[in-house]
Amino acid sequence: MIITKTKSNLLDYVKKYNKIFVIGCGTCATKCQTGGEKEVEELVNKIKNMNKIAIGKVVESPCDLRVLKRDLMNYKNEINDAEVIVALCCGVGAQTISEFSNKEVIPGLDTLFIGMVERIGRFYEKCRACGNCILYETGGICPITNCPKRLLNGPCGGMRDRKCEVNDKDCTWVIIYERLKKYGREEDFKKIREAFDWSNISKSREFMR
Ligand code: SF4
Ligand code: SF4
Repeated sequence: MIITKTKSNLLDYVKKYNKIFVIGCGTCATKCQTGGEKEVEELVNKIKNMNKIAIGKVVESPCDLRVLKRDLMNYKNEINDAEVIVALCCGVGAQTISEFSNKEVIPGLDTLFIGMVERIGRFYEKCRACGNCILYETGGICPITNCPKRLLNGPCGGMRDRKCEVNDKDCTWVIIYERLKKYGREEDFKKIREAFDWSNISKSREFMR
């Protein structure tokens, strides 16, 4: 899931506009409680209290252009009429809304990371979308996300008494070793992986099947 938090100074951005359309997200932002029905309604009411015109709509998944077109089919006039759109969704959704509407878009949320939900308000980053998943080799633990040095071939020299030298957590590679041992796959721990092509991550990526 894409983890988001509400932009603290959102209403400052809205100030200079008079007609605002708020779009929420029925998927990740609803689960994060940052852009669902309740949050869209609350924001619309706050904007109306500033003596402005505001309309809100939650789209099932604003990151999907097709769904955006479908869910906003009956709001064409309202969107055309709006001076600006506030996107209560992740940055992908905000950009998809911008492409779809050709309107100015204010991102109402800050996009944090791809994460696991333990409970609402407690999220853990689990994947950096490297494009070459090695989770099977590492016992289901991502070293690219969890090891501060992004090491791919075992612990660095800074590991002491199973602890990471960068933070006070258990060393990712100790956890990976223990997990592989549990699965009876200690041999996999010895496998040497080639250096990761970090330039791949800095590129703007596309995928076409
Ligand atoms: S290796 Fe880590 S960063 Fe790469 S795809 Fe798998 S979980 Fe994501
Ligand atoms: S101690 Fe372990 S988790 Fe910390 S940087 Fe070194 S290899 Fe990575």
